[in-house]
Amino acid sequence: MMSKKSSGKSTPGPLPVEAVQELIGRAAAMLAFSYIPYSGFAVGAALLCDDGTIVTGCNVENAAYGPSICAERTAFVKAVSEGKRSFRAIAIVGGKDRVITDYCPPCGVCRQVMAEFCDTDTFFVITAKSQEDFRIRTLGEYLPESFGGSNLK
Ligand SMILES: [Zn+2]
Repeated sequence: MMSKKSSGKSTPGPLPVEAVQELIGRAAAMLAFSYIPYSGFAVGAALLCDDGTIVTGCNVENAAYGPSICAERTAFVKAVSEGKRSFRAIAIVGGKDRVITDYCPPCGVCRQVMAEFCDTDTFFVITAKSQEDFRIRTLGEYLPESFGGSNLK
Protein backbone atom coordinates (compact mmCIF):
# COMPACT_ATOMS: atom_id res chain seq x y z
CA MET A 1 0.00 0.00 0.00
CA MET A 2 1.13 3.48 -0.80
CA SER A 3 -0.08 6.44 1.20
CA LYS A 4 0.12 10.13 0.64
CA LYS A 5 -0.61 13.13 2.78
CA SER A 6 -0.55 16.71 1.65
CA SER A 7 3.14 17.50 2.17
CA GLY A 8 5.08 16.95 -1.03
CA LYS A 9 4.83 17.24 -4.76
CA SER A 10 5.14 13.71 -6.06
CA THR A 11 3.04 10.60 -5.69
CA PRO A 12 3.77 6.91 -5.95
CA GLY A 13 3.27 5.87 -9.55
CA PRO A 14 3.35 8.00 -12.66
CA LEU A 15 0.83 10.70 -11.76
CA PRO A 16 1.82 14.14 -10.48
CA VAL A 17 -0.04 15.26 -7.38
CA GLU A 18 -1.94 17.89 -9.36
CA ALA A 19 -3.37 15.21 -11.64
CA VAL A 20 -4.40 13.11 -8.65
CA GLN A 21 -6.10 16.08 -7.03
CA GLU A 22 -7.95 16.94 -10.22
CA LEU A 23 -9.26 13.39 -10.48
CA ILE A 24 -10.40 13.47 -6.86
CA GLY A 25 -12.14 16.79 -7.44
CA ARG A 26 -13.89 15.50 -10.53
CA ALA A 27 -15.00 12.36 -8.66
CA ALA A 28 -16.29 14.40 -5.73
CA ALA A 29 -18.31 16.61 -8.06
CA MET A 30 -20.18 13.52 -9.24
CA LEU A 31 -21.62 12.87 -5.77
CA ALA A 32 -24.28 15.47 -6.54
CA PHE A 33 -25.55 13.30 -9.42
CA SER A 34 -25.63 9.94 -7.64
CA TYR A 35 -29.09 8.39 -7.83
CA ILE A 36 -29.38 6.89 -4.34
CA PRO A 37 -33.01 6.76 -3.13
CA TYR A 38 -32.46 3.41 -1.36
CA SER A 39 -29.02 3.31 0.25
CA GLY A 40 -28.36 7.01 0.53
CA PHE A 41 -24.70 6.15 -0.17
CA ALA A 42 -23.27 8.25 -2.98
CA VAL A 43 -20.16 7.33 -4.96
CA GLY A 44 -18.35 9.34 -7.60
CA ALA A 45 -15.56 8.23 -9.90
CA ALA A 46 -13.22 9.91 -12.36
CA LEU A 47 -11.39 7.71 -14.86
CA LEU A 48 -8.22 8.99 -16.51
CA CYS A 49 -7.81 7.61 -20.03
CA ASP A 50 -4.44 7.19 -21.73
CA ASP A 51 -5.27 10.05 -24.09
CA GLY A 52 -5.69 12.40 -21.12
CA THR A 53 -9.48 12.41 -21.22
CA ILE A 54 -11.28 12.18 -17.88
CA VAL A 55 -14.56 10.23 -17.91
CA THR A 56 -16.72 10.53 -14.81
CA GLY A 57 -19.43 8.37 -13.28
CA CYS A 58 -21.78 8.11 -10.32
CA ASN A 59 -23.72 5.25 -8.83
CA VAL A 60 -27.26 4.71 -10.11
CA GLU A 61 -29.54 2.60 -7.94
CA ASN A 62 -32.68 0.73 -8.93
CA ALA A 63 -35.79 -0.38 -7.01
CA ALA A 64 -35.02 -3.96 -8.03
CA TYR A 65 -31.51 -3.56 -6.53
CA GLY A 66 -29.83 -5.96 -8.99
CA PRO A 67 -29.75 -3.48 -11.87
CA SER A 68 -27.95 -0.90 -9.72
CA ILE A 69 -24.57 0.13 -11.09
CA CYS A 70 -21.54 1.52 -9.30
CA ALA A 71 -19.84 4.80 -10.14
CA GLU A 72 -16.67 3.04 -11.29
CA ARG A 73 -18.50 0.84 -13.78
CA THR A 74 -20.55 3.79 -14.96
CA ALA A 75 -17.30 5.55 -15.82
CA PHE A 76 -15.80 2.51 -17.52
CA VAL A 77 -18.92 1.77 -19.55
CA LYS A 78 -19.17 5.40 -20.63
CA ALA A 79 -15.51 5.45 -21.66
CA VAL A 80 -15.54 2.12 -23.49
CA SER A 81 -18.73 3.09 -25.31
CA GLU A 82 -16.92 6.18 -26.56
CA GLY A 83 -14.05 4.12 -27.97
CA LYS A 84 -11.62 4.37 -25.06
CA ARG A 85 -9.66 1.21 -24.32
CA SER A 86 -6.55 2.34 -22.42
CA PHE A 87 -6.64 3.77 -18.93
CA ARG A 88 -4.16 5.09 -16.39
CA ALA A 89 -6.03 5.62 -13.12
CA ILE A 90 -9.39 6.03 -11.43
CA ALA A 91 -10.28 8.18 -8.43
CA ILE A 92 -13.16 7.04 -6.22
CA VAL A 93 -14.90 8.90 -3.41
CA GLY A 94 -18.11 8.17 -1.58
CA GLY A 95 -20.17 8.55 1.52
CA LYS A 96 -23.55 8.42 3.16
CA ASP A 97 -25.76 11.38 2.31
CA ARG A 98 -23.12 12.52 -0.21
CA VAL A 99 -20.65 13.34 2.57
CA ILE A 100 -17.13 11.88 2.34
CA THR A 101 -15.98 10.61 5.74
CA ASP A 102 -13.73 7.70 4.82
CA TYR A 103 -12.00 5.99 1.91
CA CYS A 104 -14.37 4.21 -0.46
CA PRO A 105 -12.68 1.18 -2.01
CA PRO A 106 -14.10 -0.36 -5.20
CA CYS A 107 -16.38 -3.40 -4.82
CA GLY A 108 -15.32 -6.76 -6.15
CA VAL A 109 -17.41 -6.50 -9.30
CA CYS A 110 -15.81 -3.18 -10.22
CA ARG A 111 -12.33 -4.57 -9.59
CA GLN A 112 -13.08 -7.36 -12.05
CA VAL A 113 -14.38 -4.90 -14.66
CA MET A 114 -11.24 -2.78 -14.25
CA ALA A 115 -9.12 -5.91 -14.79
CA GLU A 116 -10.85 -6.48 -18.12
CA PHE A 117 -9.36 -3.29 -19.51
CA CYS A 118 -6.38 -2.45 -17.32
CA ASP A 119 -2.98 -3.91 -16.52
CA THR A 120 -3.16 -4.82 -12.85
CA ASP A 121 0.47 -3.71 -12.31
CA THR A 122 0.23 -0.27 -13.92
CA PHE A 123 -3.36 0.90 -13.42
CA PHE A 124 -3.77 2.97 -10.28
CA VAL A 125 -6.79 3.15 -8.00
CA ILE A 126 -7.02 6.35 -5.97
CA THR A 127 -9.29 6.47 -2.94
CA ALA A 128 -9.64 9.73 -1.06
CA LYS A 129 -11.12 11.49 1.92
CA SER A 130 -10.17 14.82 0.34
CA GLN A 131 -7.80 16.25 -2.26
CA GLU A 132 -5.14 16.30 0.44
CA ASP A 133 -5.78 12.90 2.00
CA PHE A 134 -5.67 10.04 -0.48
CA ARG A 135 -4.30 6.55 -1.08
CA ILE A 136 -2.93 5.17 -4.31
CA ARG A 137 -2.74 1.45 -4.96
CA THR A 138 -2.31 -0.64 -8.06
CA LEU A 139 -5.31 -2.60 -9.27
CA GLY A 140 -3.30 -5.72 -8.56
CA GLU A 141 -3.18 -4.83 -4.88
CA TYR A 142 -6.97 -4.79 -4.86
CA LEU A 143 -7.34 -7.83 -7.09
CA PRO A 144 -4.41 -10.25 -6.83
CA GLU A 145 -4.31 -13.35 -9.02
CA SER A 146 -7.19 -12.09 -11.10
CA PHE A 147 -9.03 -14.11 -13.71
CA GLY A 148 -8.87 -12.57 -17.16
CA GLY A 149 -9.04 -13.15 -20.86
CA SER A 150 -5.66 -14.88 -20.90
CA ASN A 151 -7.12 -17.64 -18.76
CA LEU A 152 -9.54 -18.51 -21.55
CA LYS A 153 -6.86 -19.19 -24.18
ZN1 LIG B 1 -18.62 -1.49 -7.65
